[in-house]
Amino acid sequence: MDDFATRLLAWYDDHGRHNLPWQRDATPYHVWLSEIMLQQTQVATVIPYYERFIESFPDIHALAGADTDAVLHHWSGLGYYARARNLHRAAKTLVSDFAGEFPADIDALQALPGIGRSTAGAILSTALGGRAAILDGNVKRVLARFHAVEGWPGKTAVAATLWQLAEQHTPESRVSDYTQAIMDLGATLCTRSKPDCQRCPQAQGCTALRLERQGEFPGKKPKKSIPTRRTHFVIAYTPKGELLLERRPASGIWGGLWCFPEVQDAKSASRYCEETLFADVAAITELPSLRHSFSHYHLEISPLLLTLSRAPTLIRERDELRFWPAKESPQVGLAAPVKRLWQEAAAVLTNSKKGDK
Ligand code: SF4
Repeated sequence: MDDFATRLLAWYDDHGRHNLPWQRDATPYHVWLSEIMLQQTQVATVIPYYERFIESFPDIHALAGADTDAVLHHWSGLGYYARARNLHRAAKTLVSDFAGEFPADIDALQALPGIGRSTAGAILSTALGGRAAILDGNVKRVLARFHAVEGWPGKTAVAATLWQLAEQHTPESRVSDYTQAIMDLGATLCTRSKPDCQRCPQAQGCTALRLERQGEFPGKKPKKSIPTRRTHFVIAYTPKGELLLERRPASGIWGGLWCFPEVQDAKSASRYCEETLFADVAAITELPSLRHSFSHYHLEISPLLLTLSRAPTLIRERDELRFWPAKESPQVGLAAPVKRLWQEAAAVLTNSKKGDK
């Protein structure tokens, strides 16, 4: 075991996090789920989602047999929904091809949907007794600083250097503790801004600290300006007190989630109600617009609440287009802005009813 790992493990014994929900019973299923949720998301945000998920889908068989809408509903608000879709697909594969057991093999794990090299390494070393390196965001930061690795880790050559260092430091024994320890160091001391180097067990060997360049590692992604796309959401309200949602195609933005239908402009919104729902529009209320950012563009949403004059007749397949009672948001996967707009529309409708009395 090298000095880096020795110092890290000694620190972990006293200062590491030992009570995270997925550590209490570190099965491959629990570790896998936590790893997927923790990609792009902080521990504090993940914990309640994780607990609700485990309560509804306590094991791989429950997840594999679940309805996609129910899985996406449990992911609503966490973002990056491809993670949830891949999780569901991987669960089905594990049940159909591996009798519900996780293979103790890094290549077989990586062949499953949504499991990359780092996640496979974490499952193998934390829950299956194997030895494999990990390189999540926290580990990249620690290693890039400790060794002063220049460049953005999204670049192949930089990632290769970091992987090589990760492999080099991963010990032969106590691999599970080491894996957790290096993630904890990145999450608690070697944080993105203001790393607490004074309390860090790696301070004596850390190159970034010696050079006083901690803030420069890891290198930043080269900045690209991202475009803004504009859209209108049709929030169609029926005389029966329902709102319309449309299920989005499985691939693409918000794939498989339920969303308000999108149109180009306000005129098209009325036409949509007439042509798709065979219903006239009695009133249109513009709700405040909102902006939602994806990694590659911003979406400027203008929501239009359209009150229909009579019950609509759907001409599209029922599977894709459905009405739900406005007073509570439906228990299916909803994109974050849709969830928010549902509540706003419901509040506007309640207030206008009060005003009518
Ligand atoms: S000494 Fe500072 S920069 Fe270096 S690994 Fe520790 S916290 Fe990070």
